[in-house]
Amino acid sequence: MTTTHSAADPAAGRAVKADDRAHVFHSWSAQGLIDPVAIAGAEGSYFWDYDGNRYLDFSSQLVNTNIGHQHPKVVAAIQEQAAKLCTIAPGFAVDVRSEAARLIAERTPGDLDKIFFTNGGAEAVENAVRMARLHTGRAKVLSAYRSYHGATAAAINLTGDPRRWPSDTASAGVVHFWGPFLYRSAFHADSEQQECERALAHLEQTIAFEGPQSIAAIVLETVPGTAGIMVPPAGYLAGVREICDRHGIVFILDEVMAGFGRTGHWFAADHFGVTPDLLTFAKGVNSGYVPLGGVAISAEIAATFDQRPYPGGLTYSGHPLACASAVATLNAMAEERIVENAADLGERVISPALREIAERHPSVGEVRGLGVFWALDLVKNKETREPLVPYNASGAANAPMAEFAAACKRGGLWPFVNMNRTHVVPACTITEAEAKEGLTALDEALTAADAHT
Ligand code: PMP
Repeated sequence: MTTTHSAADPAAGRAVKADDRAHVFHSWSAQGLIDPVAIAGAEGSYFWDYDGNRYLDFSSQLVNTNIGHQHPKVVAAIQEQAAKLCTIAPGFAVDVRSEAARLIAERTPGDLDKIFFTNGGAEAVENAVRMARLHTGRAKVLSAYRSYHGATAAAINLTGDPRRWPSDTASAGVVHFWGPFLYRSAFHADSEQQECERALAHLEQTIAFEGPQSIAAIVLETVPGTAGIMVPPAGYLAGVREICDRHGIVFILDEVMAGFGRTGHWFAADHFGVTPDLLTFAKGVNSGYVPLGGVAISAEIAATFDQRPYPGGLTYSGHPLACASAVATLNAMAEERIVENAADLGERVISPALREIAERHPSVGEVRGLGVFWALDLVKNKETREPLVPYNASGAANAPMAEFAAACKRGGLWPFVNMNRTHVVPACTITEAEAKEGLTALDEALTAADAHT
């Protein structure tokens, strides 16, 4: 794919910014304290602003554009579908919706063969929880502290990170527990095996004290993403599966971020040979070209709603433009071996380069990940593992991370920064040359973080 980019037009950029500042209310932001970059275009692994700055996208736009920006086959499919049928209510059978559901069901693990479509990840989590509650007749749901599941009612309460705090008053029925994370172990473990055993024992005990008969579901990100890309130890997810089976608890894996090629398999669950009862997805299913998410449903849970209605739905469920872009995305990913590219570049280029970078930089405490899904845990001190900025730091306390992010951008790299981590999450389509270009820029920018060790 060639990367062209339009000529700089700062005046147009200023006009875009003026309307944005006057009228757009941005997510997660103090509206008066932000200064969004005005974006003029994007292609492949890059996007650019109106001032002539081009950025290599190591964020994939909230870990979303797995197929890269403006993939020609996906753009064409949306255009063709727009000319044919833009919208239709969810009650009808439509070619692109049927095909998208089949292609997703063919890729999801095990018997997750029925697909309920939503507009994004949070709605997928909402509906998965609802299905689990209706299926079991139980109310409580367990999720991990180190997690993000979305910003709607149940999803934000299930979320473990501080974005949940303002909504905590409404979190009846949600119980948090500690998942495995050896580098900052909640269990004082000193090996992956010990972390796994202790995390499973902790979950068992949480269930015993909450009352297994009252627990509808356990929700986990297969590989927690926003919380720091913590690949679970071998055996953990199989252990959770066994615990769920023993107690009649529905096992929900949230693959909104980790799914559709990101980890070098179609789903992160494929690395662990585990099939949940419900699997939530969004983002990579169509790289966000049109909003789409959903829940892949096991035969057993689908049977619950075979003779009685599922009391839920969305006007835009299985929207034709979204489904057409999913069909084109999933076909292109197979034809162009994009999942294989993510696995290959992750193992052969990104993983060794990040490990080598970590050795040279005093600020890099740990490197974690799979495929094109990596995090660098930045620290003040490698021995103590004290994070480079305190948990949930903002303003002056977050300056070291802000300086690091600014250094990345000066070097033409758009990073994904969260708390004391930078995530390396480029498109699954990234080339070896682009990956090396980004890793070199990252290496240089890390000297800004080193200055705070
Ligand atoms: N679950 C996970 C694991 C996510 O990473 C996200 C989004 N970052 C969500 C759910 C929510 O998705 P959305 O923003 O599409 O509602």
